[in-house]
This record gives sequence, structure tokens and C-alpha cells, in this order.
Amino acid sequence: MYEELALYIDGEFRPGSEGAGEHVINPATEEELAFLPHASKSDLDRALASAADAFKVWRDTSAYERSRILWTAGELIRERADAIGRTLTMEEGKTLAEAVLEVNVAADIFQWYAEEGRRAYGRLIPSRLPGTRQMVIREPVGPVAAFTPWNFPAVTPARKMAGALAGGCSCILKPSEETPGTAVAMTRALHEAGLPKGVLNLVFGVPAEVSEHLIPSPVIRKVTFTGSIAVGKHLTRLAADGMKRTTMELGGHAPVVVFDDVDVDKAATVAAGGKFRNAGQVCVSPTRFFVHEKVYGKFVKKFTEIASGMKLGDGLDTSVDMGPLANNRRVDAIDALVTNARSCGADVTTGGERIGNQGYFYSPTVLADVPDNARMMYEEPFGPVAPMQSWSDFDEVMEKANGLEFGLAAYAFTSSTQRATEVSERLETGLVGVNHCAISFAETPFGGVKESGYGHEGGTEGLDAYLTSKFVTQMNA
Ligand code: NAD
Repeated sequence: MYEELALYIDGEFRPGSEGAGEHVINPATEEELAFLPHASKSDLDRALASAADAFKVWRDTSAYERSRILWTAGELIRERADAIGRTLTMEEGKTLAEAVLEVNVAADIFQWYAEEGRRAYGRLIPSRLPGTRQMVIREPVGPVAAFTPWNFPAVTPARKMAGALAGGCSCILKPSEETPGTAVAMTRALHEAGLPKGVLNLVFGVPAEVSEHLIPSPVIRKVTFTGSIAVGKHLTRLAADGMKRTTMELGGHAPVVVFDDVDVDKAATVAAGGKFRNAGQVCVSPTRFFVHEKVYGKFVKKFTEIASGMKLGDGLDTSVDMGPLANNRRVDAIDALVTNARSCGADVTTGGERIGNQGYFYSPTVLADVPDNARMMYEEPFGPVAPMQSWSDFDEVMEKANGLEFGLAAYAFTSSTQRATEVSERLETGLVGVNHCAISFAETPFGGVKESGYGHEGGTEGLDAYLTSKFVTQMNA
């Protein structure tokens, strides 16, 4: 049932040349799913050489042909969404419904970029000189090193692979070693769709060793990473030594500003849906709830009812609302944040504990009256916890919402168009959701400001990330 794991180098699925590797663990059962081979240094060098050779082939392949291959791969991923979704649930823990949806979104991303790659238009600029033509040509930036985390094993690699390949770049992808099967399955789809060898290489290993080998290589011209701020800064420093382009999708700590004019039950239901998706392990998860004092009590009550009514269990069980956390690190981290918030005076209205003695389960947790000095109010929680505070002054709540170094996503709930406009203009984030939490689509730009990173994935911006502009001025001889 679980995907057969392998490296993919120079167009071949293969084990690592030195036999090293690790076991992939099912977070719901703590059982070993499969052995994941690690790439040795010589495997990485082979991937680099292959990506360099393939870049020459792929950049000269017509945009039409590139589009055909990406579209076909998207079609294959969509056909296999149920099977790939099971692999995803087994390795990451999210519910099967969320997993299958994520795989379908990944297919959508491949097909959207299949189309968009055919529209990587340059432009003609009116010339100052007679007999001269001034052209801007869009060219692929070069071979890409891409690093993705464990929380969205389908969508995050898909964004990077599809953007890079649609732009004419070759790519070496290192997905998370904790959730490798989904990326292997998508790579098989690209292989079967006819991707020329070396255009995509898939490697696994010790993350720091792989990134420190790939990023300084003269072959690599672009680095893209999704993950924590600390690692993002480290990889940016490595890339800076070679003046390599970077896209950094880092952590967030999304404020949710609830006004007094909302339908409280509806707002709490929508916000709780966003909060507990993937057990809160989402970089755009709503994480700091600022609720107007007039509706605060009712909002906390409704949110608590929803959280306490959720069924936890193995994500493969279709009656389950929330799966386990993806690894034991998160359970320890969330438990420590909740203990700290309690000691600061927060009131746990539901949850606040590990569940069972097998699997990495933590209860959906709501905390009322969480003071600003509680760690979870300024550290990214990345788990199923919803800390709440009430507010009465709009300027003060905006100051709190914008007061951290994070700047990825923010949300607001109001029935007033004027307030919606004002709050979305004042929030210092790359993404704002007003009255709903769906802020990521293939065709829309996704990215943060401040320490949440820079650059975009998704939308036309996600293709621009893999292109450079060359200016050519040509005079009649
Ligand atoms: P971590 O910082 O150890 O790792 C984050 C990701 O970076 C993992 O996928 C890991 O494999 C990779 N990584 C780590 N060191 C690397 C290196 N030197 N080179 C290349 N890749 C490297 O943390 P973690 O325990 O896996 O995750 C916890 C934190 O990471 C969360 O609290 C959250 O802030 C952040 N995170 C963010 C996202 C996101 O979507 N932005 C996703 C997952 C995790």
C-alpha cells in the first residue's frame, strides 16, 4: 500500500550507492513503513552532473513540449490520487480526505504551470534609435536545488517542481525524509509522462549534508526552500556566497482579528476549520486569535465546542476529523507551549493533553485569556492549539497583530466592507484571508514578508521565480 521508495537520479529509480538510509515511521501507529535510501556524496555529484546536462536539453525543449509533459504528469497524479493520498496519510498523519484533496491540488498545480509555462512572454520596448529593435527575453535561471518539509508532502514539492520545470529549469529536489513516498509517487508520474532524464532528480539524506553539498555547487543557480526560519536563514547564507537566487517560504504566526459585527457561530466554525486542518501544522494556520470583547465569550464557547467534538484517530479511518501530529518533536513542543501558557495564567477550555500511548496524538486545544508573555503568543506553535485574547481598541489590536517578526498570513472576520478593506491594508503579511481561510491556489501568489521570507510560489509570480530577463538590443547591420 505504501509507495516503494528510491532515489531518482539521471532518469533512474535506484537505491543509494552506499546503502545508508533511515526508516519512515507512520505517526498514527509508530510502525516502520519502509526503508528510505540516502544519497551518498557520489550520488549527489551524479545528480548535479545530470541536472547540468539536462538543463541544456530542457531549456531548448519547446514550451509546448514541456507543457505536454507537465500536463500528462498532472493527469497521472490525479488518476492516482486515492493511492498517493493513502501514502501521504500513512507517512504524515493527516486525514485521508485532506490527503486526497492535497494530491488533487498538486495535480492542479502541475497543470496550471503546464499552461502558464507557455505564456512566459518577453516584450518589445520602443527603441530610441532608428533601425534598432529592443527585446526582453525570459530565460530559465538554471538548475534549481529545492528543499521541502513534511507538512504538505504533495503540494510543496509540486509547487517547486512545476514552477522550475515549466520555466525550463532542471531541478534537484530533496523532500523531507519523514514524508518521502508522496514525492516519489509524483516523480514516477513525471517519469512516465516522458520527462527527459536528469531534468528532475530526487535525493534524500541528512538534510544539512545534502544542502551543504548541493547549494555551493557551481551547477546550482537557484535555491528554493520551505521550512523553518532558522534553516531558511542558514540556506540563504549558503546561497549568498554564490550570489544564487533564493525563494524562502518560512514560518508564520497568523493573527485572526474578529470584529464585533460578525455572525459569531459562523466565524468560529470557519476559523476552527482553518485551525485544525492538518492538526494545525500549516505555515498559514490561524495561531493568534484576537476577538472583540463584545463577542469574545460566545466565540470562545463555540470554538471550544467544535474542538472538543472532534474525533481523533488514524487518518486512514474515514470517520476521523483529525489525525496525529507528524512526529514526536511536535507533541513535545506543543505540550511545552501549553504548559507554559497555563503557568502564565491561560485558561485551557478544552484539550491540552497527549492522547493514548501509541502514535503522536495531541488533543485539539483552545486556550482563553492567554497573556502576551506566554511563549505561544510569540513562537510559532505549529500544532492544534488556538490561543485567544479579547480586544476593544482597533489600533491596539493592529499593533499586536503586526508586532512579531513573522509576516506570512493573517485573517479577519467582519461583515463590514469598510473594515475588511482597512484591516487588510493594515496587516503586514503576504497573505490576508477575510471571512475565510482558503488563501492558497495554483493561480494565486503565496509568500511572506519580514522573517517569513521572500519570493512567491503560485500564480505568475511562481513562474517568474525561475526566470531571468535578458535585454537584447539589435541594430540593422
Ligand atoms: P527543522 O527546522 O529541523 O526542519 C524544517 C524543515 O527543514 C524539515 O523539512 C527539514 O528536513 C529541513 N531542514 C532542516 N535542516 C536543513 C538543512 N540544513 N538543509 C536543508 N533542509 C533542512 O524543524 P522541524 O522539527 O522539522 O519542523 C518544526 C518547525 O519547522 C515548525 O515549528 C515550523 O516553524 C517549521 N516548519 C515550517 C514549514 C512551512 O511550511 N513553512 C513546514 C514545516 C516546518
